Amino acid sequence: MTTVAVTVPEGYVAASAGLGASAPAAEPGKVTWTWRLPQPISTYLVSIAVARFQTISAEYRSLDGTRTMPVVGYVLPEHAAINRSRVASMVGHLEVLASLFGEYPYLDTKYGIVEGSFSGGMEHPTITLIGASLLGNASRDLTSLFVHELAHMWWGDEVTMRTWDDIWLNEGFATYAEVLYFERTSGAVPGRLLTTRYDDGLYAGQLGPPVVAPAEDPFRYTGAIYEKGGWVLHMLRKVVGDETFFAGLREYRRRHERGNATRADLRAVFEEQSGRDLKQFFDQWVETPYRPVLRASWRNVSGGKVEVTVRQTQGHAVVHPDTAEGDAPTYRFPLVLRVFSATSVATTAVVDVTRAEETFTLASPGGAPAVSLVVDPDGDLLKIVEAIGQGS
Ligand SMILES: [Zn+2]
Repeated sequence: MTTVAVTVPEGYVAASAGLGASAPAAEPGKVTWTWRLPQPISTYLVSIAVARFQTISAEYRSLDGTRTMPVVGYVLPEHAAINRSRVASMVGHLEVLASLFGEYPYLDTKYGIVEGSFSGGMEHPTITLIGASLLGNASRDLTSLFVHELAHMWWGDEVTMRTWDDIWLNEGFATYAEVLYFERTSGAVPGRLLTTRYDDGLYAGQLGPPVVAPAEDPFRYTGAIYEKGGWVLHMLRKVVGDETFFAGLREYRRRHERGNATRADLRAVFEEQSGRDLKQFFDQWVETPYRPVLRASWRNVSGGKVEVTVRQTQGHAVVHPDTAEGDAPTYRFPLVLRVFSATSVATTAVVDVTRAEETFTLASPGGAPAVSLVVDPDGDLLKIVEAIGQGS
């Protein structure tokens, strides 16, 4: 736990983690704000914000309906009017994330945001700092930022990475929480959202470096730790299935709450939950740079079938392949293939790509010859498709 005590001139609010109150200080004209957070906190997450804040209040009701918790915004008085609805919307964010990940970790205190001279957000437990340039901009939609920072209460604050090279356990999780939020609230297709908003589509672009970060400069490659980290979770979900994925997240939380975790801890939980060996999955998506590059071709064959050949052409190998263990230097992943007939009837199949080149046989769409092929129609795989053609 932490106790933070700050003495400030009367009229100023000092905001920090947990529950707080002010009392007259010994010195005339001053007050002392004292804040207590009962839970453990990582040192990099301790914060103090001081200004003549105006307070905006809302209320969150726990998932089981038995308890309420204050939801608070500490904002500059000139920004109070434009942030009332934003603070109110945080109640809905809490409800969605708690339904996905389990109850909010600091239900006995509060969740709040506080305005600061900082661009972006910083997830101090129970008191996220949000930049004044954002909170002062009425036309800016802050939903994904608010959801991201709130998700850190579970992923980053309650379960903190053990070492900085695993910063993706904070940032990839919070980024994927944005996707899950929009999937839940607006029916977004998560892979399509990832493809359009969380990827530059480049082999050696923002998502090129390995998700494991350089420990001496963990935020050097933000595309790898945020966006590609989010992709890793989505692809893990596609490998183990929704039920196991969400159960696995809760088990990972249960095992490491109020403590630290590593990527090996995450892998161990999901291997237990799924009954699968995930060494190659973590090697290829977390440790290996870049992404697979695919070529696909299709041809109609006799017997009402379509043959689809998928070839991996990337110029790099998956790291740490242990062929004695059955690992491959090329990627392994489930892939959705969809072939269409001239009348737009489709056949869809999920195939397991396990080699550099592999041929799969699908039923012809509606019994008619195929005229086109779509690879990964919902964008569930981080990849480049460089060519799709009709073979002979
Ligand atoms: Zn973050």
